[in-house]
Amino acid sequence: MADAYRKVAEQVAEAALRVGRRPEEIKIVAVSKGVDDARIREAVTAGARILGENRVQEAQAKMARLADLPVAWHLVGHLQTNKVKYAVKLFACLHSLDSVRLAEEIQRRAEQAGRVMPALVEVNVSGEATKFGVPPRELRPLLEAVARLPLVKIEGLMTMAPVVSRSEEARPYFQALRRLAEEAAGWGLPGISMRELSMGMTQDFPVAVEEGATLLRIGTAIFGARA
Ligand SMILES: *Cc1c(COP(=O)(O)O)cnc(C)c1O
Repeated sequence: MADAYRKVAEQVAEAALRVGRRPEEIKIVAVSKGVDDARIREAVTAGARILGENRVQEAQAKMARLADLPVAWHLVGHLQTNKVKYAVKLFACLHSLDSVRLAEEIQRRAEQAGRVMPALVEVNVSGEATKFGVPPRELRPLLEAVARLPLVKIEGLMTMAPVVSRSEEARPYFQALRRLAEEAAGWGLPGISMRELSMGMTQDFPVAVEEGATLLRIGTAIFGARA
């Protein structure tokens, strides 16, 4: 576990240097869904500072047991409206905002919790029917609506590339997300930032780094195959 984490961090740094980026500007979200506490602790000892979960309930129990760890927790999986109430109390960042309705619920629950909620908009760049996220053409109306919600703080975009056999095949999807973020940054919407790009998983993270990722969501390469 510790070795695996360090190896991933090394690969991230190498990919960054290949394209003239500073390794420090890229954060690894160690995706710990389905992983037992002991292995999560090892990864944190090796340097992991952000843990990613995709189910609110599983995360809640885990966070209670691992409350002593010096980490931030991110929700990387799909968020249902009826779980927002819990999510705003648990997570430092939500990676999967994909509708106005969800944003409005986050605003409402963030107000009750007395906090600002950082979030990324998930974009379905590949157009696969099985994927969550807004189609690229719906990004602008969504951001315009969220710009009116003061407690939902958009910090950038997130996407998942299709399953590929060679990491290189994921590159066009990462390029498309980066271009979309550049475009969105030019719309001048108040309170909307495009500084974060959450893209890249075990199958393709070095390519994502080359294409500008700032948040990598990596599970298998750190923790091994999930049951
Ligand atoms: C599980 C998951 C990951 C990590 O996938 P690996 O292939 O194990 O690196 C990344 N993002 C999301 C949204 C996930 O659900």
